[in-house]
Amino acid sequence: MRRPEFLLSLAGAALAGMSPMAVAAAVPAATRRVLWLRRAGYSDEIVAPFCVDGRTVYMPGYWQICWLMRDRHVAPAQGYVQVDIVEIEALWEVQQALLLHGIREPLVITSGYRTVQTNNATENAARNSMHVYAKAADMYVPGISTRDLFNACWSRAISGGMGYYDDHVHLDSATRRWWVGDLPVPEFARTSLV
Ligand SMILES: [Zn+2]
Repeated sequence: MRRPEFLLSLAGAALAGMSPMAVAAAVPAATRRVLWLRRAGYSDEIVAPFCVDGRTVYMPGYWQICWLMRDRHVAPAQGYVQVDIVEIEALWEVQQALLLHGIREPLVITSGYRTVQTNNATENAARNSMHVYAKAADMYVPGISTRDLFNACWSRAISGGMGYYDDHVHLDSATRRWWVGDLPVPEFARTSLV
């Protein structure tokens, strides 16, 4: 199928209510960007294509990601916002790094977007946290340590702020920097996971 026909058929599929997971499966692997996420503490799990042509944002998948990363402590009218696309790309890059090492697990999001009110109520949260700007995610990956997850983040040039904690890793799309939350300062080996 030629590209324009293919994209048109995708648009049609979305309109016909075809699930984003089915769209993801239908798109050629070379051009699609699909993010596999789960929300900690809820049953939400998505395999969402946020780019299917290698260039533009595929909105049905993008909005699915924004919905999963919403602030769950407030009504959707306040908590469901546009997540920074660079943050989504950074999460995708981390997942690709893990996949290269045979780790086929979702990123489990413990915190995504936070309203100011939720951020203020979050223990140890920075006042100017990137979560408030929908540019950050806290996450873990089943079966691997937060140290290995941190290293996967570190391995990708797109990664902005990276925070290393006992039970999660913070990844945002602001300036590249890193810090240690509630763990002793680690010595990252040159031959780390990735
Ligand atoms: Zn965070």
